[in-house]
Amino acid sequence: MSKRSSKQRFLRKDSLTQSGAKKSKLKKRTHKRLRKTLFQNAHDAIALIDDRLCFVDINAAACDLLGLPRQQLKGQAVSSFITAEFATQPNCVSFPPTQSLMGELLVSSSSHRREVEYTLTPNVLPHCHLLLLRDISQRRESMQAELRQQQQRVELFSEVTLKIRQSLQLKEILHTTVTEVQRILQADRVLIYHVLPNGTGKTISESVLPDYPTLMDLEFPQEVFPQEYQQLYAQGRVRAIANVHDPVAGLAECLVEFVDQFQIKAKLIVPIVQNLNANSENQLWGLLIAHQCDNYRQWVDFELELMQQLADQISIALSQAQLLERLEEVVAARTAELQEEINVRMQAEAALRQSEEQLRLITNALPVLIAYVDDRQQYRFNNQAYQDWLGQSPKEIYGSHLQQVWGEDCYQRMQVYVKTALSGQAVNYENDIVLKDGSWRAVDVTYIPHLDGEKMVKGFFALSSDISDRKAIERMKDEFISIISHELRTPLTSLHSALKILATGRLGNLSPEGQQMLGIADDSTERLVRLVNNVLDLQRIESGKVIMECQACNAANLMIQAAEAMQAMAQQQEITLVKQPQDISVWADADYILQALTNLLSNAIKFSSPGGTVWLTVEQEQASPNLPPEVVFRVRDEGQGIPADQLERIFERFQQVDSSDSRKKGGTGLGLTICRKIIEQHNGRIWAESTPGCGSTFAFTLPTLDSANIS
Ligand code: ADP
Repeated sequence: MSKRSSKQRFLRKDSLTQSGAKKSKLKKRTHKRLRKTLFQNAHDAIALIDDRLCFVDINAAACDLLGLPRQQLKGQAVSSFITAEFATQPNCVSFPPTQSLMGELLVSSSSHRREVEYTLTPNVLPHCHLLLLRDISQRRESMQAELRQQQQRVELFSEVTLKIRQSLQLKEILHTTVTEVQRILQADRVLIYHVLPNGTGKTISESVLPDYPTLMDLEFPQEVFPQEYQQLYAQGRVRAIANVHDPVAGLAECLVEFVDQFQIKAKLIVPIVQNLNANSENQLWGLLIAHQCDNYRQWVDFELELMQQLADQISIALSQAQLLERLEEVVAARTAELQEEINVRMQAEAALRQSEEQLRLITNALPVLIAYVDDRQQYRFNNQAYQDWLGQSPKEIYGSHLQQVWGEDCYQRMQVYVKTALSGQAVNYENDIVLKDGSWRAVDVTYIPHLDGEKMVKGFFALSSDISDRKAIERMKDEFISIISHELRTPLTSLHSALKILATGRLGNLSPEGQQMLGIADDSTERLVRLVNNVLDLQRIESGKVIMECQACNAANLMIQAAEAMQAMAQQQEITLVKQPQDISVWADADYILQALTNLLSNAIKFSSPGGTVWLTVEQEQASPNLPPEVVFRVRDEGQGIPADQLERIFERFQQVDSSDSRKKGGTGLGLTICRKIIEQHNGRIWAESTPGCGSTFAFTLPTLDSANIS
């Protein structure tokens, strides 16, 4: 190759290299310019920062954002303007970071503060990092404005809901709804159309601007509001029509004509449905309708939502109103019932008051103590005699305990009878009481238990009558009898002895007639002696001079002794005496109980026919679960018996079923009276049972050892 050609080749090559370098330089420059233009004109704020976080370069948008010219910003620390963590605390970021950082920060300059979205891309150039800033203040503001608006709507809605809920009257609720909806929506007319179950209906509430006709009480004709529309609304259809004349709205011609009458241009309809019970379908109760008459109107979601929510509130209010109505009906019915009950009660009370007054009048007029005592032994009623006798007014006595009214001693005496009455048994006894002037009175007291429907004792009626005079007479009589008897006993005994001696014939024989007369005289004298003895016995027991000396006795022993004593008489009368003794302990005065038993046995033998049997038995029994157990002695015979009306009377003095008994049977009519006195002194009872012609049973009770010692 020639030198020229090689030089040429070299030159060519060189020029080629030169032009390539030029080209690449040019390209680089173009790129740089392009970058610069992009950098400068970019809409987003862009800044280059160094490792110390100072601005190296910034574009126009960034200057705008930071509010300072480029020259002033260069070299300034980023932290002077922005509040990003990486800028204020560079140490906490391992800077230069390896990854881009993104986030939001606040830019503050002398003139303003901006919320900014940033991206920090590290090392876009050696020791140079790219910071992109995008102003999001406006976006934030509009978001906040939107939030505020939503908040307002919520508040508005709750305000209206509250107003609706505050009123209980349906009419008021509907009125509030239409007024509030009209106010909030700035609609020309808002109404509520009530649909009746038969498909007809009418406007029942309306709020309309004065420029437009009212639709109040208007019924929508069938053709504009047919049945199928009602069904659609019942299923929840909502209609928002911006322009009633726009074919897109799809309104039937007749409906357009109808709405034109009322200058309606746009309308919003939401149904008010009711679910009467969980299983039934929704029922259309009515429609909540908003009309715009001055112009067409595009309804917005919020308006639709508000209308729907208010329609729901009305539906709730309707259910509540119905409940309230039902409640009112129930209350009215109950009130009427109660009124009736009150009337009946008042009448009953008036009648009761009247009868109480009458009762009080009657009881006050009686010269006896009349009272009602409850099961806690407290007075619930007492008559005027209490005031007259004891000096305590009915008011003072009412609610007081028996012990309070009568004092400790008297109460002690009455306690056993009170217990008996409260156990359900009527009881009669005599007591001595002290009157307000300190004088003593003997009273005859009767307690009659008061049982309720379930036979539970609620209390007892107490009747006490003054028997002081009777007692005084009885005492005088007893004393008289006692004296006479005593006076009689001595001559009678002598007479009896003399007759007995005469009968022996030692003083001379008598003719048979004389013997017969002597026999009669002896029998009569014996009867007279018996009578005198009985009278004296009775008088002694009644006067209280006799004190029963009670001790534990064996019932069997008492029965055996009594039977032995009567055996001779039984044999004489050809009567079999059967005894069934039992080893039961009783608390008794053995002598007196023997007297009672022999008396009863003697009667049983006396009133039996020859060949008959007399039984003597004993049992431990309990009359009722409330009462203590007791020992019951029974003397049973197969004799003539006693008529029912005489069963009680024969225990009275000198009472005999047949007045000739004293003569025929040699009785005195005092035996049973003495028996009763003896048994009563033992806190027991004695009674007779009989079937005339078949026999009689005489029974008496004695307390068991245990119950006697307890009481
Ligand atoms: P008396 O001395 O007359 O027997 P009581 O007081 O013992 O007196 O009896 C009164 C009356 O009761 C008797 O007169 C008789 O009429 C009747 N009486 C008593 N016990 C019996 C009996 N076991 N059977 C029939 N009547 C009787």
